[in-house]
Amino acid sequence: MSEATPAPAPETTPKEQPAKVFAGAVYECVRCGTKTSQQELSRLPEVKCICGYRVFRKVRPSVVKQIKAV
Ligand SMILES: [Zn+2]
Repeated sequence: MSEATPAPAPETTPKEQPAKVFAGAVYECVRCGTKTSQQELSRLPEVKCICGYRVFRKVRPSVVKQIKAV
């Protein structure tokens, strides 16, 4: 029996880049629900909602998946 042992598959590290959390992060004011992007917030001198509240919670930006029509 000369069974060729297949080389152990190397651990394939996915080459997916880590999600840039801050780039597209969306924050939602817990008071009025206004969604503001992190970019918008970073422009402001202080993290503050238009309503004056300063408590935000992070929400996932709506990811639009593009499906290729074959
Ligand atoms: Zn607000």
